[in-house]
Amino acid sequence: MEEETSFSKVGIRRLVLIVDDEHVNRRILGRIIEKEYDVIYAENGQEAYEQIKKRENTLSMILLDLIMPVMDGYQLMALLREDPKYSKIPVIVLTAERTAEAKSLQIGASDFIPKPYDMPEVILARVKRLIELAEDKTIISAIETDALTGLYTKEFFCQHAIIHDNYYPDMPMDAVVLNVNRFHLINELYGRLFGDKVISTIADQLKSIVSETDGIAGRAGSDSFFIYIRHNSDYSVLLDRIVNGLINGTGNSSINLRMGVYQNVDKNTDPEHRFDRAQFACNTIRSGYTNGFVLYDDTMYKRELYSNKLIDDMHVGVENRQFKVYYQPKFDIIGDKPVLRSAEALIRWDHPEYGMVPPGSFVPLFEENGLVQKLDRFVWEEAAAQAKRWKEKFGVTIPVSVNVSRLDIYDPELEKRLLSLVERNGIDPTDYVLEITESAYTDNSEQIIDTVNKLRAHGFRIEMDDFGAGYSSLNMVAALPIDALKLDTQLIRKIDESEKELRMVQLIIDIAGFMKISVIAEGVENEKQYQLLKEAGCSIIQGFYFSKPVLPEEFERLIEEKIRKTPERGTL
Ligand code: C2E
Ligand code: CA
Ligand code: CA
Repeated sequence: MEEETSFSKVGIRRLVLIVDDEHVNRRILGRIIEKEYDVIYAENGQEAYEQIKKRENTLSMILLDLIMPVMDGYQLMALLREDPKYSKIPVIVLTAERTAEAKSLQIGASDFIPKPYDMPEVILARVKRLIELAEDKTIISAIETDALTGLYTKEFFCQHAIIHDNYYPDMPMDAVVLNVNRFHLINELYGRLFGDKVISTIADQLKSIVSETDGIAGRAGSDSFFIYIRHNSDYSVLLDRIVNGLINGTGNSSINLRMGVYQNVDKNTDPEHRFDRAQFACNTIRSGYTNGFVLYDDTMYKRELYSNKLIDDMHVGVENRQFKVYYQPKFDIIGDKPVLRSAEALIRWDHPEYGMVPPGSFVPLFEENGLVQKLDRFVWEEAAAQAKRWKEKFGVTIPVSVNVSRLDIYDPELEKRLLSLVERNGIDPTDYVLEITESAYTDNSEQIIDTVNKLRAHGFRIEMDDFGAGYSSLNMVAALPIDALKLDTQLIRKIDESEKELRMVQLIIDIAGFMKISVIAEGVENEKQYQLLKEAGCSIIQGFYFSKPVLPEEFERLIEEKIRKTPERGTL
């Protein structure tokens, strides 16, 4: 018996299986092939099949006689062709019949070699060429499909969607996008292996769904799946099926999926665009704690057009100074009377067609495509320049805070950029505050901790924004390097009505105090909320109760008032 080794030290020495019931034939053919390949032998289809099963991953080629006892070549071919593990192994049929070519190809062989074997060079060349060809094909198909799931990659998925349309031009089709809610957290909490399990379990569900419906499935990103299937009017059934499969497959019922569906796609648009729409619908699902699906509709179409217009207009908007920075005061409420302490810079867009557009309409949109970084840098410059002007005009430094998007955290130049900014404007970094949204911390905690530590070492102060809006935990606050906690508007809104909400806020303030982190309450709208927060020990307040975000000229009145009351100079 030959050795199974198929990997030599230099390159890979491929393994070839010769199947023939006649000893002489095996010997002759073996001698020819052995010059370049490792060879193993079998006397009939049955024996060959056992060999193949043992070596599915290392076998490069099968040379197969057709007429044999026990199991003949035809039967073996039938077995191999129906199993995807073996169907890609190239087979050359060995035959004495001169008319065998058509028959060989019919049963799925790649080529045939006529007996007797009187032209060794030709035989060797054929074997070599076919092995190379088969390997090229698997390389291509390796890129074509995603390694973890075996689903098409995005690019190939879209190509296959086009092929599908060519075959079934009149079949009404739906484009479906499926995402896993907070997938990064699943990875963090349960480990990558479990994350992979989640992904491959979903993929298995999708495979069985598309095989029943003449559709195709692909993996478009870490937790993003595309499905292109025959139009279906009830997506709750489909979603339930995937969710149940996921629970059965992983034993975990706390993972939630969201699905966006663009029904009866317009086949005149390219597949990418169809799935953009499905994704658009999918993105409208905000809650991360339930399974749900949304169908793309007319209002989304209008919003899509609006979003596209904003994206198109952004660069010109920056050049033409259509973006305006407003300032909302933060008041210190520890003493008897509230005292102006600092300002938060908030952007607005004075759009030539739409009028004043609030940041909620474009910041999340620009976060998706990276445009937000350009905008943020603009605001950071403006805010620093404004602080400088105020300092020159009033002789006091008004600390300003700016919003830092999670994308900015990935900017390797962030530290340098901010340092140069404060230097150029003669501001002490301690008077330049960076508000980082809480969800950025949960997204990528290691990188953010690293970045924030560096920034704090330079003196910048860091506030965790929107605390209480998402995945907040006080654990997280204890572990993170921050100077202040900004309680989200949602938390504050109900404290004057609900005892429970108030106790919650009280608890957060107490714990933060224990950790020597100050607390800023945002969205304070009335006297009662203000009083309750003051009693609870909150130190700084921001909200319409004191002032809306205003233009710098209007903000100056607050500064002047403050200076009249406390004329000593320095930092506010
Ligand atoms: P944020 O950072 O949490 O900003 C506070 C938001 O609460 C502001 O909304 C502010 O106008 C609003 N607000 C303040 N007091 C009250 C109140 O008493 N009641 C109510 N209902 N709302 C109040 P705005 O200016 O519309 O900004 C919304 C969000 O857009 C901001 O939330 C921030 O996440 C983002 N944003 C604003 N400017 C920028 C920026 O320059 N860069 C980035 N990346 N994001 C920005
Ligand atoms: Ca903020
Ligand atoms: Ca906030």
